[in-house]
Amino acid sequence: MKKFVIEREKLAENARLIQQRAGVPVIAVLKADGYGFGMEQMARVLSETGIRMFAVTEPEDAVRLRELGFTEQDILIMRSTAMADEAYLAVQAHAISTVGSPEAAYCLNEVAAGCGMQARAHVKLDTGMGRYGFLADQYEEIKRVYTECAAIDVTGMYTHFHSAFADSAATHAQCRQLCEIAERLKADGIECGMRHAANSSGLFCYDDLTLDAVRIGSAFTGRIPAKTPTGLSRLGYLESRVIELRTVPKGHTVGYGAGYVTKDATRIAVIPVGYTDGFSVEKKKDLYRLRDVVRYIIGEIRNGMGKGAIYVTVNGQRARVLGHVGLCHVSVDVTGLDVHDGDTAILDVNPLYLSPLVTKEYV
Ligand SMILES: *Cc1c(COP(=O)(O)O)cnc(C)c1O
Repeated sequence: MKKFVIEREKLAENARLIQQRAGVPVIAVLKADGYGFGMEQMARVLSETGIRMFAVTEPEDAVRLRELGFTEQDILIMRSTAMADEAYLAVQAHAISTVGSPEAAYCLNEVAAGCGMQARAHVKLDTGMGRYGFLADQYEEIKRVYTECAAIDVTGMYTHFHSAFADSAATHAQCRQLCEIAERLKADGIECGMRHAANSSGLFCYDDLTLDAVRIGSAFTGRIPAKTPTGLSRLGYLESRVIELRTVPKGHTVGYGAGYVTKDATRIAVIPVGYTDGFSVEKKKDLYRLRDVVRYIIGEIRNGMGKGAIYVTVNGQRARVLGHVGLCHVSVDVTGLDVHDGDTAILDVNPLYLSPLVTKEYV
């Protein structure tokens, strides 16, 4: 028995707090199945809090949201594409496409014209993310999307921060580039539409980057890196139970590789959750900067010394994981704790790595 529990009211509270802090329309990013919270359920809760605009990455998700009955909301598809089949889905779903290249503009314009429809789009600027978007020196190309694509109605322009969580100077420079292009268009008599740049860190780490809208994803889940308290609730936990209790003697080994040796007689609770469910799976591999590598090595050393130990909650008490987490099981030390067979176990699982096989339950 296991399920991933999401507290609906706390999600709604996070959404209200985000809207208050933003003070401008919030575009709710629902990519990656709503950051693991379930795109549909998340969209329902968020729209009840007054959010009127969603963003997805896949055109298919825009279609699905329409089919689920989200017909009033604007849906931004956040990747530029030169694929006619994707442009077709976007147009049919009355979504707002992203145009980040002359090829994408041409493709969308042709498809919309072919359907006898008017496509809606936001222009994307690449100010350092390196994926999707016109470069700042492609001003003439940007202008042509507004002036020469008769079947495209451009209603906004945006960029994406690469280091809002870490680098204020770079983040402000990215925002400035966007505003400068908007100003230039204005001087040429073109209204660029809604300007947006801030993601969750952009909103919570700065006061001056909200522009006309913000695009928020992870902040809804309360899981964002921020140096100052955000007031957001960290949401989502995996619930399971103790299926067996056992006592092993001093010097007994636990888990693959005999990664743990008991220092005394130890009472062990077994919980049927493992890394197949997403437990203790974290992104470690893409370490591209020296400081990330150093942090990783220090973390591993602390782990070895027991300092980076993983804990779970069993019958309301903190219990340490012993040895390596298995594919489908985990053993925890409940020596001296008030724990019985069948007691509830709560495990912290990052919803981004939650197995899609685990049931999600909104409570
Ligand atoms: C994922 C994403 C966001 C949301 O980022 P968070 O940091 O999760 O709020 C915003 N804009 C774009 C283009 C994205 O890909």
